[in-house]
Amino acid sequence: VRIAIGILVFVLILGGVVALLRVLANPPPAKDEGMLEDVSAEELRYSCVVCGTEIRMLRKPKGDVKAPRHCGESMELRR
Ligand SMILES: [Zn+2]
Repeated sequence: VRIAIGILVFVLILGGVVALLRVLANPPPAKDEGMLEDVSAEELRYSCVVCGTEIRMLRKPKGDVKAPRHCGESMELRR
């Protein structure tokens, strides 16, 4: 029984290492400058619904982009 538990633990650790290596081997896509659009002319302002912090977006990926998060909540787009 001890050997079976030992093998099980070994397999679990091996699985964890493989999962970790997979994450390291597939880093998130690098920022591609060509895919970013300059929105500094538009007043894209987001404010935090919790603490009121306000930010202005200057550049974003083309297309729809999720609102940034602050205080663990999605920020609100101000117009
Ligand atoms: Zn906040």
